[in-house]
Amino acid sequence: MFQRILIANRGEIACRVIDTARRLGMETVAVFSDADAGARHVAMADRAVRIGPAPVADSYLRGDAIIAAAQATGAQAIHPGYGFLSENPDFAAAVARAGLVFIGPSESAIRAMGLKDAAKALMEGAGVPVVPGYHGEDQSPERLSHEAEHIGYPVLIKAVAGGGGKGMRQVEGPAQFADALASARREAMAAFGNDAVLVEKYVSTPRHIEVQVFGDGTRAVHLFERDCSLQRRHQKVIEEAPAPGMPEEMRQAMGQAAVRAAEAIGYSGAGTVEFIVDASDGLRADRFWFMEMNTRLQVEHPVTEAITGLDLVEWQLRVASGEPLPLQQKDLFIWGHAVEARLYAEDVPAGFLPATGRLTRLRFPDGVRVETGVREGDAITPWYDPMIAKLVAHGPTREAALGRLSRALAATQVAGCVTNLSFLSALLEQGEFRAGHPDTGLIERNLPGLTQATPPPPEVVAVAALAVAGPGQGALEGFHLWAPLTRRVDLLHGDSAIPALVTPLGSGEALVEVDGQQMRACRDGAAWTVGDRIPAEILLEPGRVTMFAGPQGTHAFQIPDPLDRTVEASSADEVLSPMPGIVRAVLVETGQKVARGDRLVVIEAMKMEHALAAPRDGRVAEVLAEEGAQVEAGLPLVRLEPRDG
Ligand code: ADP
Ligand code: ADP
Ligand code: MG
Repeated sequence: MFQRILIANRGEIACRVIDTARRLGMETVAVFSDADAGARHVAMADRAVRIGPAPVADSYLRGDAIIAAAQATGAQAIHPGYGFLSENPDFAAAVARAGLVFIGPSESAIRAMGLKDAAKALMEGAGVPVVPGYHGEDQSPERLSHEAEHIGYPVLIKAVAGGGGKGMRQVEGPAQFADALASARREAMAAFGNDAVLVEKYVSTPRHIEVQVFGDGTRAVHLFERDCSLQRRHQKVIEEAPAPGMPEEMRQAMGQAAVRAAEAIGYSGAGTVEFIVDASDGLRADRFWFMEMNTRLQVEHPVTEAITGLDLVEWQLRVASGEPLPLQQKDLFIWGHAVEARLYAEDVPAGFLPATGRLTRLRFPDGVRVETGVREGDAITPWYDPMIAKLVAHGPTREAALGRLSRALAATQVAGCVTNLSFLSALLEQGEFRAGHPDTGLIERNLPGLTQATPPPPEVVAVAALAVAGPGQGALEGFHLWAPLTRRVDLLHGDSAIPALVTPLGSGEALVEVDGQQMRACRDGAAWTVGDRIPAEILLEPGRVTMFAGPQGTHAFQIPDPLDRTVEASSADEVLSPMPGIVRAVLVETGQKVARGDRLVVIEAMKMEHALAAPRDGRVAEVLAEEGAQVEAGLPLVRLEPRDG
């Protein structure tokens, strides 16, 4: 086994790898960018090496600097984590050339799966079912549209170099084919420098089911499947294992197909074979097709660890150091059910817009496994993926695992930036999902219901108002008037203002009126309770009060400063870049009339594209954004003509 390894990554996966390496008695070396100098993974590692400034191209994607760091610290092997350089065959080769071990598959295996068309051809040859379609050389629009007719609409156009859902277009009929092809090509060229595409059948009622494999370079085993059908923008949100409703016959067939795929390329280490499944008729052994293989450890690997009782990073380290696979296929079993939720700093109602901020509160309950790269007080910066943590629940049944995860999400405390916490909770309660029928369109179809901001219960508003008006905050201190002194407290919940009237009654009691509803509050020590509800935990910060109300969720209120009237007037005319990123498309021109909600500009940041919409009806006065330009947060991109009057 290795004595010392370097982890060429950041965030939760770097921490995850360090945990196992340490348990196995290895020393660990972290690398970091300037934005991460104080990060959790740096604090956890035995040593840490700075590799450059914040942008990934200058730090986490700099293979040369990372290899130099490994050599300088005497590390024998490099674990690439996921993302970044993990699927870069040139990096894997350079690591080997430097006399170090790449903890992952060979350069040739990564290359074989790197392009979707070549991978599909290879898999067909190995007897793995692939999605019916065209992945040939001829890239002329005539040939491609002819093939689409032949396959039968709807079809999917996919960039052969694609990843992260980019360069992909669903086409419903021949009339839209040419436009969709052109835009898929444009996006693929911009993102991957390669505009070749393939065309395949759009599978109906699609479920994304993937199989975890492990190879020793010759033979491979599978560690069963994961269902990752709950996706937004083709990116996973909730994953579980095993797949609900999976018949044993289909599990065997998919496992064997995945093993064939891995063995066909002499796969070594951890990998995932992704399949698309047609679930229109339930799960059937002849209705799954190969989509792609991810030649690395996957974000959602903990659900597989939970149901197999294994540590996949330990397997990676053992196999990379030359040991045989720890177990044979016949020794592998499924125990119970596991679910993972990805907690992101993102504004869900705004279209899953990534958010930044300092985590003034970050606490997780017991009873679930938590994988995170940040601590309370750390910041989610605009530089990297906005994932805060993964919560993984395991139980004897799916029902038990889902229940455990729901309770854990309700008891999770995050403040300081917007998160998808309440969206995750709503998703876990969603009917089709609960019933075990997820599909990749579920989130999109149910978006309004899932993103509906639950209005805070009046009791929660009352306690928040008391916290704002309460002892130490001036208003309720030292009252000694004969007549009760009523104070109005204005709270902002999202866009809606909620006024509350607080009247102290003396002897630790108060009356609070919210929305016409009168409530009597009692003080118990420092905490107020209203009615018989469980008191919420309160975090009072300048300009903000956050209520952690257990099963009733987290509710954050802004406390508006009565003197500040500037915000609304200026922001209505300008559309600002919400984060640093690259302008991908400008969709309006000067003088154009727009309606509230119209898409104006698309920017790409934190791995995703975000459309910025008109805040109101109006006319475009000035377009300040330029396609391809790098923009800072807060930069005006489009200016609307001032409102009349
Ligand atoms: P998965 O399908 O397992 O979610 P992806 O390849 O889409 O895998 O991404 C895996 C993870 O890699 C992301 O969640 C993110 O943390 C990281 N990542 C990938 N590319 C980048 C990038 N360009 N910048 C920052 N993080 C990245
Ligand atoms: P990427 O490399 O961007 O991850 P994939 O080929 O893995 O691309 O596809 C991403 C997602 O798109 C899948 O998880 C699935 O939701 C959807 N998808 C891909 N191929 C099909 C298909 N043929 N029919 C229906 N949905 C598909
Ligand atoms: Mg994929």
